[in-house]
Amino acid sequence: IFSAHPQLIVKEFAAQMGLKPNILIAELMRMNVFATINDKIDFKTARGLAEKHGFHLEMERKPVEPPKPPPPPKPKKVAAEAEERPDELLPRPPVVTFMGHVDHGKTSLLDYIRKSKVAAGEAGGITQHIGAYMVTYNDKEITFIDTPGHAAFTQMRARGANLTDIVVLVVSAEEGVKPQTLEALDHARAAKVAIMVAINKIDLPGANVQRVMGELQKIGLQPEEYGGQTICCPVSAVTGAGVDHLLEMILLQAEIMELKAAPKKRAEGFVVEAKLEPGKGPVATVLVKSGTLKVGDAMVCGDYWGRIKALTNDRGVNVRTAGPSHAVQCLGLTAVPEAGARFEIVESDRVARSISEERLAARRLGQLQQTRRGVTLDDLLHKTDAGQAHELAVVLKCDVQGSVEAIRQSLAGIKSDKVTLNIVHAGVGNINTNDVLLAQASRAIIIGFHVAADEGVAKAAKREGVEIRFYNIIYELIDEVRMAMAGLLEPIVRENTIGQLEVKQIFELSKKGTVAGCIVRSGRITSKSRVRVRRQGEVVFQGALLSLKRFQNDAAEVREGQECGVRIENFSAFQPGDIIEAYEVQRIAQQL
Ligand code: GDP
Repeated sequence: IFSAHPQLIVKEFAAQMGLKPNILIAELMRMNVFATINDKIDFKTARGLAEKHGFHLEMERKPVEPPKPPPPPKPKKVAAEAEERPDELLPRPPVVTFMGHVDHGKTSLLDYIRKSKVAAGEAGGITQHIGAYMVTYNDKEITFIDTPGHAAFTQMRARGANLTDIVVLVVSAEEGVKPQTLEALDHARAAKVAIMVAINKIDLPGANVQRVMGELQKIGLQPEEYGGQTICCPVSAVTGAGVDHLLEMILLQAEIMELKAAPKKRAEGFVVEAKLEPGKGPVATVLVKSGTLKVGDAMVCGDYWGRIKALTNDRGVNVRTAGPSHAVQCLGLTAVPEAGARFEIVESDRVARSISEERLAARRLGQLQQTRRGVTLDDLLHKTDAGQAHELAVVLKCDVQGSVEAIRQSLAGIKSDKVTLNIVHAGVGNINTNDVLLAQASRAIIIGFHVAADEGVAKAAKREGVEIRFYNIIYELIDEVRMAMAGLLEPIVRENTIGQLEVKQIFELSKKGTVAGCIVRSGRITSKSRVRVRRQGEVVFQGALLSLKRFQNDAAEVREGQECGVRIENFSAFQPGDIIEAYEVQRIAQQL
């Protein structure tokens, strides 16, 4: 019995149990938890592991500490660093993304800002396309991420990369709110970022800012002018009217958000985009979330690593360092990482390389399938058990707008004290891969009513672990969601017997306890099996396997006709002739 904090560092935890960290890391991998030696794992996971090694883990009771000031959402770290102390947190520039309906002027606005605010008299002058750029306005910096559309935005988020602080929804003053405006809004809302609106194209004769504000109000974006919370800035990307005001408002919004990061530590952040460039090798644009990135740093980036050879900013200027919210292109990685991949700086090239090798090996072995996956009802019920607050997030697709409204209202009428319902997105049309992405990033279930799925959706959903349910009858849909929310759909636990062994001989090993020498009579036994010991038909013991050996070696599986040595946790009273039944426990989620 020993005590611990709510999070344990793998290295220390392993030491406390007298284990090598890599053993623990391997076990975690099998549980789909991907951690390196300096990462933290949560208490629940740790307890499960402790139990497996014969320890009982208990939480140390400590006086409740006052809550820390809210730091930006912090990804787990590789580096063994002291916790960020609040006094080391300094204000950082906001990271902004433009989203909205096609042709409403996202690109034009970005270009206008870039041309008018960057080029003027600054070193380098000519902006390079690196996927992100920074402007200085009133002596304050703003970073813009150049994501082509909300699908890319959500795809990054699905990989765990929440890069953006503020989304500026661009709406044409002529056309007003369009289907993709709504979709973009839902994606931004799901990401829980601050949302502002730029009403663009006010130079056009058909522009009607008041009408657009009325439409915004209808979709829950109450403009400040109407007494609401949403900052709406009329602008023109052609004449530049209102753009300064928009930048001021972005800075104001950022100030309200009190964005902070610790610059004085090793950098971590995300890949904005990456490619292979002839003559240069892999180049990746990264956004620093915290810390300061330096030339010469040893970087782990997604599955790869590298020693930073050069950093280039968005003006094509070589820089030595890049602090929080800065985006730079870096050279020196061994391969091209995915957009959205996380990077972190570690103490040395050696460490970086070994982490990368670990990850690549894990990937090859297929052990690391999905570090993040969608939600299934089973997950939801597990959370219910743990008594946590949680929600059932839903992406709803229907054939007509009327059904969307009807179903939305009926679902909103369901009352459950266990689960709250959150409709992340509701729209008309077939289920598409964007919906799958959004569902994965928001851990939502997709519900289709009188619609089909586009090509490739089933595959994407399977890959991302997203559950899709189709309905044609509204009552069925509502009933099943209600049942799910009430937690009535307990997963079915099924035990599948996979093999039978007969105990032939008993070995008493002084150090290792009692080993039963067995022969597999039928089926097979695996090292992960659970076992029942039967004597004359009666079950005398049921529990977990401690080890499975073939000759002197650990075996993953032993098949019919083969001999093996079996040790069972907390059981040693074997007798020759005992039958050991190997079985697997399957939890089958009752689907929504
Ligand atoms: P995006 O699809 O949202 O990136 O839209 P674009 O930036 O590509 O703009 C679509 C079209 O609208 C282009 O032809 C732009 O020239 C035009 N446009 C964008 N902003 C304005 C504006 O403020 N005023 C006018 N008159 N045209 C604009």
